[in-house]
Amino acid sequence: MIQTARIALSRPLRRLFDYQIPPGVELEPGQRVRVPFGRQSLVGLVVETGVEPPANITLRQITEALEPWPALPPETRQLMQWAAAYYQHPLGECLFMSLPPALRRGRPAEATEEPAWQARRASTDDDLPAQAHRQKALLSWLRAQPEPTSQSTIQAAGYSLDQIRNLERRQLIEKTAQKAQAAAPVEKLPPLTPAQNIAFSELPSPAKGFSAALLYGITGSGKTEIYLHYLERYLEPDQQALVLVPEINLTPQTVSRFTRYFGDRIRVWHSALNDSERLQTWLRIRRGDPVIVIGTRSAVTLPFTALGAIVVDEEHDTSFKQGEGFRYSGRDLAVYRAHLNQCPVLLGSATPSIESYQNTTSGKYTLVRLEERVGDARPPALRLQDIRSRPLEGGLSNRTIQAIRERINRKEQVLVFVNRRGFAPVMMCFDCGHISECPRCDSRLTYHRRDRALRCHHCDYQTAAPVTCPECASEAYSPVGQGTERTEDVLQATFPETPVIRVDRDSTRTRGSIDRILNTVNSGAPCILVGTQMLAKGHDFPNVSLVVVVNADGGLFSVDFRAPEQLIQTLLQVSGRAGRGRIPGAVLIQTCHSDHPLLNQLCTGDYLAMAEHILSERRAVQLPPFRAMALLRAEAATMEESLAFLDEAKSRLQGQDLEIWGPLPAVIARRADRHRAQLVLVSDQKGPLQRHLSALCLHLDDRKKPASLKWQIDVDPLETG
Ligand code: ADP
Ligand code: ZN
Ligand code: ZN
Repeated sequence: MIQTARIALSRPLRRLFDYQIPPGVELEPGQRVRVPFGRQSLVGLVVETGVEPPANITLRQITEALEPWPALPPETRQLMQWAAAYYQHPLGECLFMSLPPALRRGRPAEATEEPAWQARRASTDDDLPAQAHRQKALLSWLRAQPEPTSQSTIQAAGYSLDQIRNLERRQLIEKTAQKAQAAAPVEKLPPLTPAQNIAFSELPSPAKGFSAALLYGITGSGKTEIYLHYLERYLEPDQQALVLVPEINLTPQTVSRFTRYFGDRIRVWHSALNDSERLQTWLRIRRGDPVIVIGTRSAVTLPFTALGAIVVDEEHDTSFKQGEGFRYSGRDLAVYRAHLNQCPVLLGSATPSIESYQNTTSGKYTLVRLEERVGDARPPALRLQDIRSRPLEGGLSNRTIQAIRERINRKEQVLVFVNRRGFAPVMMCFDCGHISECPRCDSRLTYHRRDRALRCHHCDYQTAAPVTCPECASEAYSPVGQGTERTEDVLQATFPETPVIRVDRDSTRTRGSIDRILNTVNSGAPCILVGTQMLAKGHDFPNVSLVVVVNADGGLFSVDFRAPEQLIQTLLQVSGRAGRGRIPGAVLIQTCHSDHPLLNQLCTGDYLAMAEHILSERRAVQLPPFRAMALLRAEAATMEESLAFLDEAKSRLQGQDLEIWGPLPAVIARRADRHRAQLVLVSDQKGPLQRHLSALCLHLDDRKKPASLKWQIDVDPLETG
């Protein structure tokens, strides 16, 4: 009797592969194996053993098991199997996501301690050739380090492996076992405030098994403090915990806040780790070490074996959803993972997602409110500033400039928020109305003032901005609309004595630049911060007393049904940066629609009332979260091909209990010369939708289609359009 196993490979194929198990070898699900595949040898993961061998086919044999234990423990496997089915992504690719890159490539599952280096006692430059400048620099750099320094840190500081080896050959430096981090004394947590205590007592305890709580805590109410207390109170010494945070919030400040109280139990997980760091952390988690992992969305796929609690901070943040390929939601997987482990999950936010809020009204989640700021800080006062037919300079009205001046004169700090989702600056001809468009996309080119370039934000096209109108050669050709650069220039010209600091993707590209900016701001001296979405998130600016929103209107009239929700979340988050210290904060929102109900409701600051309002609108039109939604997206060399493909898919789905909208061209119908269209599928129930989608995927995989055509399924899409 031959033994067989069903194996997943890291391939974009919606199928598994059967192999024979070599005689005398025992395998269990989750184990890594090596298998022959065509003429290659690949790493595979056992999904099942003892499968019925197909008649008349001789199965090939598994070459070897890579280790005698399952790399993926049962709950991790179940989670990824569920995710593969739910998001319609090939199982092999999903399972392999739970492995660190080294193990995907078939490396042994053991940590090779990274070597650390230190200068030898008696080493001097004299032993180096005069022209060996870099080696000299490295030697003196190493001498200045208080302790042995890991190879990757040395390389990150700009030195090469060759330079390290040369110094070793000359016996100027030596390899040491990396000194274990001196266990820093672990501090005691500050006591909770009375308001925090009440909220804390309402959180479900792990004794209840699975539970999900939505912690609605206004900005500055101290949600992190609650997470820390929750872990301290409930996490057993031998248990693991997962804290998911948006990428942009995973700063050294956040990590050190946790490390102060949990010391060496804290591990981080994010995209900037190198392969050896990933392997080491992965192994610790897999071994069951009682770590607390602070990580970005992919940390939910890690092989925890003793999970005691999960926290998702800023649970509304759209970065928890992957935007390409395997389009999973890290937050939703976290809730499912908690369910698998029968442990609690805390979702925290000052602006909860409509989905999570709905789950509290339906009784699935417990709603816990924390509506007081810590200490003397008060929530800021929000005011609308109508800018209809008022002269603007750099997007700012006279009255706004006046308000900024008052704050600066009082030696306070101001934050100016430019909502990029609204308007970006373009070059326009005031004679013929010509606006430059991207030749490859249906999109306008954005004007970048610093280098006088026109760039497309949907592909990588760029060109020098012409001096006169390319259409009619008029000289009345100049930028219109808002951009951070232009606002920055106007502010700097108006306030020449005050530092104006721009915070956007361009100004924070280099490592450590955001820390430098934060240091300046934390010094407390008056300054004006100008920035985009990046400024809205997470940071604590205790001396900012005024927040200006340059234009709020972008999200009010969008085709995307989620735009109003995202607009108020962004505006409340950015407002929350004001008045965190002793100075009461104010928020000025410039708008052309000061009578809009949503903006007026925003000024009350009562987010849950707004959420209730949005929820009732969604109920009225039966949109998510009241029904399940998925998109089938297609792109091809021509729009006809995309639409024809979607039409055929639609005809297959018709007659089933689905509502189908489209196919329609996407809002940006052409991007990088690809023509994009979509079909929206809506269903009363998630289950039937999932079954229809699975059948559809199998059909679409097999169907003949134009070579240029690519398609994708997006379940629970965050953007429709
Ligand atoms: P949130 O994430 O809810 O906006 P934070 O957790 O960042 O708020 O807390 C805001 C500030 O209040 C932080 O500087 C934090 O250290 C401080 N803080 C929160 N809770 C307490 C407490 N119980 N005692 C002292 N300081 C606290
Ligand atoms: Zn013109
Ligand atoms: Zn383009």
